[in-house]
Amino acid sequence: MIIDLRSDTVTRPTLGMREAMFSAPLGDDVFGEDPTVNELEKKAARLFGMEAAIFCPSGTMTNQIAIRLHTQIQTEVICHNYSHIYLYEGGGIMSNSLASVKLLEGELGKITADQVKAAINPDDVHTPPTTLVSLENTMNKGGGSIYTLDEIRPIRKVCDEHGLKLHLDGARLFNALVETGESTTDWGAQFDTISICLSKGLGCPVGSLLLGTKADIKRARRVRKVWGGGMRQAGILAAAGIYALDYQVDRLIEDHARARVLGEMLLKLSFVHEVLPVATNIVIARLEGVSPEEFLKKLSDKNIKAVKFGTDLVRFVTHLDFGDNQLEQFGERLESLRP
Ligand SMILES: *Cc1c(COP(=O)(O)O)cnc(C)c1O
Repeated sequence: MIIDLRSDTVTRPTLGMREAMFSAPLGDDVFGEDPTVNELEKKAARLFGMEAAIFCPSGTMTNQIAIRLHTQIQTEVICHNYSHIYLYEGGGIMSNSLASVKLLEGELGKITADQVKAAINPDDVHTPPTTLVSLENTMNKGGGSIYTLDEIRPIRKVCDEHGLKLHLDGARLFNALVETGESTTDWGAQFDTISICLSKGLGCPVGSLLLGTKADIKRARRVRKVWGGGMRQAGILAAAGIYALDYQVDRLIEDHARARVLGEMLLKLSFVHEVLPVATNIVIARLEGVSPEEFLKKLSDKNIKAVKFGTDLVRFVTHLDFGDNQLEQFGERLESLRP
């Protein structure tokens, strides 16, 4: 049995999800006539107390559409230098929106209101006007770290004072919310747009949602179409999203519990120097005396998959298809790596 911990995207749809997909009523969503897509979009918008939502093929597309909505050519986006929108979206801020980026540093991938305030460009021809702040929760490269609302509110205040938009890359937002117990509507109230991935911990095969005002989502439909993201009988995918929101959110807490145990197991290896604080379902191990490639090879010999996440870092992500049985197996296989 292969234990695949490369990402929470490797999951297969559950039987219940497949049944929901199979029986979903369908139509042509480019004409706005897919009842299941319409239901998912309404459901998600309502859940966060936002006006509207749009279903897209990927989180990269929802983030990039949001950036497009909130910038103009030669303006600037503020974000942490670990941000997915900057590191892992192919330079899309530049190529899709012709905008610049101001990268900030901060512990565990997080930034503060004071940092944001200091990073806003002055009204001066030398600098691109700042128009957007983008945050990520949970923060992937920060080890699945969590922002709380108490950290968000002061950032929102700075944005309001300076006329900036605030976007949330909430690819794993539900992972944060099941830990903190904070409400979706309280989060919805803080942001101009929120991107949610259905294909990560929630276990869908495809799909992300962008939430925002009616006007922004109307514009988003134009951008999605031009970028080739208009889908036809997409209800077959949206049905998986509805199912996930109904049945596969609360269980994320189990992924977190298993991630904490997995982190402790890793610490027993002599060449694991430290494990970043495990806040959710992401476990990042810092190695000493062995390279990520060497460690990954040892793991691969034991049918375990993980990914290199920096010069001395390896990442493991727990998910729907990693149960207690796999966790126990993981522990046993790791034992056999100890000298
Ligand atoms: C996965 C992910 C995305 C979107 O990725 P896609 O593969 O394009 O769906 C965006 N942000 C974060 C933090 C992610 O982990």
